[in-house]
Amino acid sequence: MSRPLVIPFFISHQGCPHRCVFCNQHAITGQSPGPTPDGEQLGAEIFAALARPRRAGRGEVQVAFYGGSFTCLPEARQRELLGSVQPFLAEGTVDEIRLSTRPDYINAGIVDFLKRFGVGTVELGIQSMSDQVLRASGRGHTVADSVRAIECVRAGGLKVGVQLMVGLPGDRPGLLFKGAEELAGMRPNLARIYPAVVLKGSGLERRYRVGEYQPMSLARAVAASGRIKEIFDAYGVRVVRLGLQATDTLRDDIVAGPYHPAFGELVLSRNLYCKVRPALEAVKGSGRFELRVAAADQSVLRGLANRNLKRLADRGLLTDVDLVFEDQRERGTLEVVAV
Ligand code: SF4
Repeated sequence: MSRPLVIPFFISHQGCPHRCVFCNQHAITGQSPGPTPDGEQLGAEIFAALARPRRAGRGEVQVAFYGGSFTCLPEARQRELLGSVQPFLAEGTVDEIRLSTRPDYINAGIVDFLKRFGVGTVELGIQSMSDQVLRASGRGHTVADSVRAIECVRAGGLKVGVQLMVGLPGDRPGLLFKGAEELAGMRPNLARIYPAVVLKGSGLERRYRVGEYQPMSLARAVAASGRIKEIFDAYGVRVVRLGLQATDTLRDDIVAGPYHPAFGELVLSRNLYCKVRPALEAVKGSGRFELRVAAADQSVLRGLANRNLKRLADRGLLTDVDLVFEDQRERGTLEVVAV
């Protein structure tokens, strides 16, 4: 499936009356907390984005409103933003609008409103499937709100995306993986997994500085995110993002925690290594073999600084093994074949 061209707009902290402990929208979106474009500027920016040369084979075009909580904005502002995309939807140069919001700011009336403006996907900041963790994180909504919101978006005929965080206050692996299983079982259309990092000016920073919060190590966050990705994969839920988007300002705003600009790559490398190792151990010493993986997974198989290959070689698992990268193979899959 070809990837969509996404034209993103960050609405920063606007409209959100909450202050989740991990949140500092300015750092996450890389945008100053100043005003986001008005409808006219937004139209001009979409026009300019559409005029740029596109990579061959790009799929549909989506305008995305990320950051903040879209449906918390005053309705007039929502109309202005959504309205500016309408001419492009009408002429067919934009196919869909997607946006993110909080689970407790979704109901049938809101879904209907969004649908009338051509919104096709609503991403919900679920963050945790534990009420205890949601409370400790100052989210201001419950798991029941999240479940209701997922059902409501789907009942309205829109695609639903879910965002889940690892390493929130009060969380632990058992809760996290059980929650991921429940969430995946609701079969959202897509998912994003973010590690909790301590950002300047966030509630977590204060707790961290007084020793009340300890972020996950990078290794643990990668392992936990990898396990959650496997859970989503097993339910056929597409994970479209692993880790925070690297922006110019984000790095300066990180006080502590498992941030890495190639977090997603680390997770995919860990997951592939966990599959490759037992597959090669099973045939070790019994002849010559080809290890076949997707061509798109070549760097993931090698790992950062060839770490995966070194670990496999140290275990003697690459002796008598040829690496074969196949264009048609599905990412994340592998085959070991005798030659
Ligand atoms: S709901 Fe979203 S925008 Fe609002 S405080 Fe929480 S993370 Fe930040």
